[in-house]
Amino acid sequence: MKILLTTLNSKFIHSNLAVKYMHAMIRDRVDSVVEEFTINEDIEEILSRIMQGGYDMVAFSCYIWNIERTMKLAENIKKISPQTMILLGGPEVTYDADVVIKKNPFVDFVIAGEGEKAISDLADIMLQAEDSAGEISRAFGENSPYLEPLMNITNLYTAFAPCDMDFESRSLVITDLSIIPPVYLETKKQEIENKIVYYETSRGCTFSCAYCLSSTTKGVRFFDYDRVKAELTHLVSLGARQIKFVDRTFNSDESKALDMISFLMSLDDGSINFHFEITAHLLQRPVLDLIKTARRGLFQFEIGVQSTNDATLREVRRANRFEELSHNVLEIKSYGNVHQHLDLIAGLPYEDLQRFRKSFNDVFSLKPDALQLGFLKILKGSPIEKTVENHGYSYRSYPPYEVLKNSYMSYADIDHLRAVENVLDRFYNTGRFRYSIEYLYDAVYCGRGYDLFEDLSAIIKDNKINIVRKEEEFRAMKLLGLSRSECDCMNTDFYVELLRLDYMNMGRNPSLPAFLASKNAREGESRLREFIFEFTRDQQNLVELGFAEDVHYKDAYKKINWSIFEYDMVQYISEIKKSGKTDIVKVVNVLIVNYDSGKDHNGDYRMLRRAYEI
Ligand code: SF4
Repeated sequence: MKILLTTLNSKFIHSNLAVKYMHAMIRDRVDSVVEEFTINEDIEEILSRIMQGGYDMVAFSCYIWNIERTMKLAENIKKISPQTMILLGGPEVTYDADVVIKKNPFVDFVIAGEGEKAISDLADIMLQAEDSAGEISRAFGENSPYLEPLMNITNLYTAFAPCDMDFESRSLVITDLSIIPPVYLETKKQEIENKIVYYETSRGCTFSCAYCLSSTTKGVRFFDYDRVKAELTHLVSLGARQIKFVDRTFNSDESKALDMISFLMSLDDGSINFHFEITAHLLQRPVLDLIKTARRGLFQFEIGVQSTNDATLREVRRANRFEELSHNVLEIKSYGNVHQHLDLIAGLPYEDLQRFRKSFNDVFSLKPDALQLGFLKILKGSPIEKTVENHGYSYRSYPPYEVLKNSYMSYADIDHLRAVENVLDRFYNTGRFRYSIEYLYDAVYCGRGYDLFEDLSAIIKDNKINIVRKEEEFRAMKLLGLSRSECDCMNTDFYVELLRLDYMNMGRNPSLPAFLASKNAREGESRLREFIFEFTRDQQNLVELGFAEDVHYKDAYKKINWSIFEYDMVQYISEIKKSGKTDIVKVVNVLIVNYDSGKDHNGDYRMLRRAYEI
């Protein structure tokens, strides 16, 4: 018997943990293979590759992003090879498993909830069936002795027997996680190269947010600490670059989080990054003090805020304490070593556009490294699904089930927010406009981050700017700054120089658009070239700029960029990094950027300034 465990990830860089667990449960007795695809691959190509495997069963891990393509693949596999069993599992089929079976005659099995035990028991039954009947599908006919064992697998639904057991009475979780073998102890370097590695130390969540499927199970279960340590040690020794923990709240148990963070710090090889979802208001002094001492870039936190409106949070049963959360986020920000990514959800109950604006402003005022604005999804099986009538929800009936409107936001409001989200993502979360946005916010939009992105979105729309091109993004940002030139704190000349700095900071040889160029450079271009030529002939300069001592000046010349500035940007940047407070010093200088240096954890290339006379 040969089984394929597969899924379609949303990007090449992603990988799937579930199929690895399933494989670990059956690999000792079943010829089983894990193969992961992406939703961007040609579906015919995927079908061809699966069919070449000659599998007796193909098991798919199903999510919002892959369910449509997965169903097409499964249907075609069954048409080509009716004897091949099709098994589906994952959150997208868990909460209506019986309907999935009834509506899709090509599906033989659906596992609801955590599937490791179920697939293991199913594999045992299939091995017996194969022994007795030769071809597995034939063994499951009417009056088959295998039907009763199949029906006894608590969270398995099958097309071969009636699914009369009600959903609530089925146990969807594995109480004792020690039955699941480790999945990464024998991993090879090439299996994780250029991939994000997903890892979990625990399952379940202590909270019960109404829009989240994790709220449907109770309590948190932990994997054995020694096993976790051994796997993580192996992964880091292989050179993993990023390990993302899928634990629902990494710090739900303070003392375990303290131990784990301390252990992860001991694994630091200078370039690994660990990403967690944390509940920021729960962080206590010992964890904060430890985090403070971590290498810059070692940790990355994702923090769900979702809303700052009390009525909203109460209705969705979300236990945020925004004041404590803000305090901790700002404290961690002051350490300057952890990337913090905060989340908001639009479309929650009791939050109209005006109130959402406040949530946005509250969160943006913390100046997170990224702010993700998501739209509420009414997920199958989530508690909020039962309240759609109370709040007038209309939502897409197909993945990702996002809200179209509710009693508080019209479709036009949601559509408007989508435009704001688009510019937030492109202009803020990419970090491309780090210095110019921060300046604009402090000088003009303080406390009104939402307005900044709303105004930018309006400028893009009114001027029909095609922001697919980077130069056009910068043009939109320049127009936004100029439109605010009358504000007392706004220094437009300085702002345009910050835009130029952001542009130069994007990478090697970006040809500067004319609307960002220094007028002084235009007037004295050949003199400036001469200046740079002289600069590169001095080896001390090149070393100071981050080149090796033996670099040839001609090679260095090809790897740098420069521009005349009327303000001291190096001083400005270092002040921001140190204290967040900045003085603007007017002094004509040439800023020289070394693209060969790589970016530091702040996202800056190595740069130097030299006095220059115009
Ligand atoms: S949203 Fe986060 S905190 Fe809330 S139930 Fe889900 S996993 Fe837990």
